[in-house]
Amino acid sequence: MFGRTKPLWDTGPELKSGYDAVIIGGGLHGLATAYFLASRYGMRDVAVIEKRHIGFGGAGRNTAIVRANQRTQENVPLYKEALDLWPVLTRELDFNLMFNNCGNLNLLHSEAAVNAARMNIATAQFLGVESHLIDARQAKEMMPALNISEDITYPIMGAMYHPPGGIVRHDAVVWGLAKGAAALGVHIHQHTEAAAIESRHGKVTAVATSRGKILTPRVLVSAGGYSAAVIHRMLGLRLPISVLTIQAMVTQPLKPLLDHVISSGAYHVYANQTLKGEIATGAHMDPWPNYTTQNTAYYVKHQAEALVEILPCLAGVRFMRTWAGLADMTPDMAPIMDGNHPLEGFYMDCGWGYFGFKSCSAVGKYMAQYMAEGRCPEILKPFALERYEQHRLMGETAALVSYSPDN
Ligand SMILES: Cc1cc2nc3c(=O)[nH]c(=O)nc-3n(C[C@H](O)[C@H](O)[C@H](O)COP(=O)(O)OP(=O)(O)OC[C@H]3O[C@@H](n4cnc5c(N)ncnc54)[C@H](O)[C@@H]3O)c2cc1C
Repeated sequence: MFGRTKPLWDTGPELKSGYDAVIIGGGLHGLATAYFLASRYGMRDVAVIEKRHIGFGGAGRNTAIVRANQRTQENVPLYKEALDLWPVLTRELDFNLMFNNCGNLNLLHSEAAVNAARMNIATAQFLGVESHLIDARQAKEMMPALNISEDITYPIMGAMYHPPGGIVRHDAVVWGLAKGAAALGVHIHQHTEAAAIESRHGKVTAVATSRGKILTPRVLVSAGGYSAAVIHRMLGLRLPISVLTIQAMVTQPLKPLLDHVISSGAYHVYANQTLKGEIATGAHMDPWPNYTTQNTAYYVKHQAEALVEILPCLAGVRFMRTWAGLADMTPDMAPIMDGNHPLEGFYMDCGWGYFGFKSCSAVGKYMAQYMAEGRCPEILKPFALERYEQHRLMGETAALVSYSPDN
């Protein structure tokens, strides 16, 4: 009755003995870099090596929030370009990435949080990103379900409203990039684990994998939560990264109720309504480093309590599914993007924490430029590993506006 469904991309290419570039990690950053290498730099002899299936890591587990109102002048332009690229990629890939720029409301619950938001807004506006401070009443007008009474643990004093942000469908991004990269000749090798990087005279020569050795002069590690362990195991390089679990969950489908993404640092909760009507909500990171992807009753209870305080109409609504993923956190909550260190031809793109989905389109573009030309693009220079040795931390922790009413 029905014909066999044609795969979106060639799922079983032959593993060749050599490639111009090998990318370790079939997540958002690996696939985006592969796509831009092939589409912008004509480098099509590229292999993406994925130990499980593409999208297995944070790529398939995130809560799909995108925005550009980061805190620092080094970060905002990167995230702005990433936002601008979603419609471009949707067209180029001929794949609906379901970008819904419904805007983000960061709720503010204290004078300190309002002042921190003023700084974010000033930086964003200076760099051409739309962001405004609104009061609690205006927030209520935009989102009638919001509880702005004084009678909650952290009363809402206002919000940082960022109209161009929103949500993008994360699995569509994975499939769209895989389809686009493979159509240009990139080989995607799933169920293939990278085990070692080989070098000679200070230059990368090969990647050893669970399916044999691949000769290559360039390798990118973009292995998400596993990057720090992979890089330490392969090169003995210790990165200032802690791996923590982030938990998330969705409710049963509801009629349209949330027109914007909302987040609250004080309550440690963020939420958006999916096109299916579910409320997708994410929690704060687990407070200790771990590599598990398990949920805990503590966070399920916390999310329910926090959401019902902010949006009382959710009382009695059920969670349908819960899941968790890894976040690779740096001390300044900004990523590490570096190249030709400690080996020529070795590149790393890691430390994305909460921010690796919203950045992946622009980062793929610039990491591809870095790998193709061998020179660091200006926009990536501030993210080099050496900033930690030089005590030039970035202060992106404030991008979460996570001030509690007590500080
Ligand atoms: C619950 C949750 C909610 C989040 N919400 C958001 C959000 O709303 N917005 C946002 O911007 N970010 C969010 N994030 C963060 C975001 O998902 C990550 O930062 C992002 O996925 C990082 O992309 P990546 O390509 O670096 O890594 P990943 O997408 O994790 O991909 C890495 C891949 O590398 C593979 N791999 C690892 N080791 C090897 C090896 N040795 N050989 C081969 N392959 C290997 C893994 O299997 C994995 O598929 C969230 C994360 C979680 C867990």
